[in-house]
Amino acid sequence: RPAPLSFPKHREISSSLNNQNALLNQEYDVIVVGGGHAGCDAAAAAARTGAKTALVTQRLDTIGELSCNPSIGGIGKGHLVREIDALDGLIGTVADEAGIHFRVLNRSKGPAVRGPRAQMDRDLYKASMQATLKSYPNLHLFEASVQDLLLDESTSPIESLAPMSVENTIRVSGTGLLGINSQSDDRRPEMDKMMQSATSASRNARIRGVVVETTESENQPATRHEIQARAVVITTGTFLRGVLMIGHDRYAGGRHLRDSELVEPPSVGLAQTLARFNFPLSRLKTGTPPRIDGSSIDWDACTIQPSEVPAQPFSHVRQFNEEQPPMVTAGTLIDCYQTATNEKTHELVMKYEHTLPIYDGLDGKGNGPRYCPSLYKKVQRFPDRTGHNCFLEPEGLNTNIVYPNGMSGPFPEEIQLKIIRSMKGLGAVDIVRPGYDVEYDFVNPQALTHTLETKSIGGLFLAGQICGTTGYEEAAAQGIIAGANAGRAAVAASSGEKAPSPLIIGRDEGYIGVLIDDLVTRGTLEPYRMFTSRAEYRISLRADNADLRLTRKGIDFGLVQDEERISALDAREMLIGDRIEQLQKFDLKVTEWSARGGNDLMGGAQVSRKQGQKKTAEEILIMPHVTLNDVENIMMDVRKESSETSSDEIAFVKCPLSVYDTVEASVKYKSYVRRQYKDMDSWRRAQGLRIPPDVVYDHNNLPTLSNEELEKLTRIRPSTFHEASQISGMTPQSLVYLYHHVMRRN
Ligand code: FAD
Repeated sequence: RPAPLSFPKHREISSSLNNQNALLNQEYDVIVVGGGHAGCDAAAAAARTGAKTALVTQRLDTIGELSCNPSIGGIGKGHLVREIDALDGLIGTVADEAGIHFRVLNRSKGPAVRGPRAQMDRDLYKASMQATLKSYPNLHLFEASVQDLLLDESTSPIESLAPMSVENTIRVSGTGLLGINSQSDDRRPEMDKMMQSATSASRNARIRGVVVETTESENQPATRHEIQARAVVITTGTFLRGVLMIGHDRYAGGRHLRDSELVEPPSVGLAQTLARFNFPLSRLKTGTPPRIDGSSIDWDACTIQPSEVPAQPFSHVRQFNEEQPPMVTAGTLIDCYQTATNEKTHELVMKYEHTLPIYDGLDGKGNGPRYCPSLYKKVQRFPDRTGHNCFLEPEGLNTNIVYPNGMSGPFPEEIQLKIIRSMKGLGAVDIVRPGYDVEYDFVNPQALTHTLETKSIGGLFLAGQICGTTGYEEAAAQGIIAGANAGRAAVAASSGEKAPSPLIIGRDEGYIGVLIDDLVTRGTLEPYRMFTSRAEYRISLRADNADLRLTRKGIDFGLVQDEERISALDAREMLIGDRIEQLQKFDLKVTEWSARGGNDLMGGAQVSRKQGQKKTAEEILIMPHVTLNDVENIMMDVRKESSETSSDEIAFVKCPLSVYDTVEASVKYKSYVRRQYKDMDSWRRAQGLRIPPDVVYDHNNLPTLSNEELEKLTRIRPSTFHEASQISGMTPQSLVYLYHHVMRRN
């Protein structure tokens, strides 16, 4: 049985409210509730659309706080950061300012799955985010706790954004592409119950503002204020009825204040409000590892993981303009290190299993992130593994605190110490703050539209962890879409204009589209995080081309106005276009290619002569192992020997590295992209086809499917492809493999 909930004294909200009171009595276009990653990008996006915006958050000094790992990006997540940046969002540029260790993950694999990632200096990240937000003249920051929503329930529903066209609905929606609109596994009834309450929610309501509480001093009661707004975006993260847990100790809170015993208060009033309006609420949990003292680590016993040099920034503008490397603020790079758990560690984890918390969700087990599991889950799930990696990531340039990535597990503090001290290099380590778990309410995102506006209350948007996701990048991606749509609609309404077309990213346009479509059409029963495998168009949705895919869309919507970004895009598009045209126009004799050592570049393989004696430089670049650099060097040699060519024409215009990457990937992937669209087309037409009952779902027949997918297919035995698409956890790619497998059998 869980111990009774205790309420430690929360640190009073620091109050410099004098100048706030004047601001509180104004009317806003948009109010964003929460200064986390969703809130920051939502507020900035709303402000960029011209909306008079207020960001109301519990503590101004925690705006931009990295609650868990001090890093941004990674595989799938790095793609999201680049896309947010392409829409002029904040997370990428702030991460460039505060980054102290940069790496492109999967660098040896294809460009589609490469993921930029960087380690942050936590203080610099927050400082840079706060400074950026303060630079928006139409964005006001408030320190207050939102307790309730103001609704105008008498009005008929106002369509704040123009409805989506049928064509658009099909393009953006999984229902159109894959027939994915719900889940049909064994936890489906839970989801259905949540949705039933959502559909009975008030339909004729429209948001009018929020009720906030401020405290002027510790001894005075809180004062309530109403702030009026045309649109409200709620981004309260892990705070809704949050409960923090270490061992069997439970206490109310949204998260710990960094490196201290103090906690930020949970958001109870707002959770009650959402429940009162029949939003479908359920519980999720997540956890963070202990923080350790770097001066007590035996670094020599660990494996060094240096940063890449030169560091590759997130921001497209910074990447294009190579005179602006990242780390502008930090100005220096650090090393990370790696160690691992061992059999002794695993023994301790299992020995003290009984000391772990008992949760509200999933019969006391808690509903945590499947793909970012606690150490206990890893040891339990993979009993044969003798070790799990642990990355030692310094939290900043001016601190000794180190984040042991991979070690979350809310055991009692003394057990956490025993576990961590069992590892190589950490034998004498000290814990600065123990790890803990947080369990919180989230809203089933099926209650939202593709703009992230709630279906039941006009003008009310939700974004971030409150919608069932986990991760800073997923939060910021939702934030920018919710903020932009809220801002544009509110500005149009206040000036009496027609409702604008919404900003919706299609599944074939960006990971942001995949994320939001998955959430609002399928919902989620566990913390959702992004992976490249979730995107059916992942070959075209690369991190290197996010600006080419999205910036024009952002400009048209009024979200991207930065001149430097727009001219960087113009120049990049021109350079890429020129380069590809030159490759297409240049005929290279196969004999010339071979004579200049071209075949050696391809590991001795010969360029096929079947299609004649000549190939364009573009066709040669498609060959495996051939780089753009190789092809251009040979092209220049050939040009030099040609008497008609002047020396000016011989050299190629020097381009930033990012242009080379995009040209190379566009050429190499051209035929795959074409095939991808063809596959998706045939898949779309095949949804009603029957799957024979004797299909054996195993790795012999379907080698690329995960164990989880095979297990679910074997158990559920879908009779059509449409049914298969409704199984939660089935990736679009796996559905296409299954389709090809069945077609081949027939
Ligand atoms: P948050 O960053 O949580 O921000 C919420 C904001 O809302 C805060 O500023 C808060 O002060 C404010 N707020 C709340 N209620 C109110 C109110 N009523 N009025 C005004 N302001 C309010 N992510 C991972 O990817 N992997 C992990 O392993 C991981 N572990 C985590 C462990 C813990 C303990 C925590 C707390 C988070 C963890 N995260 C993890 C999640 C990551 O921190 C979030 O995904 C991300 O911060 C979500 O961003 P957000 O903007 O939705 O919310």
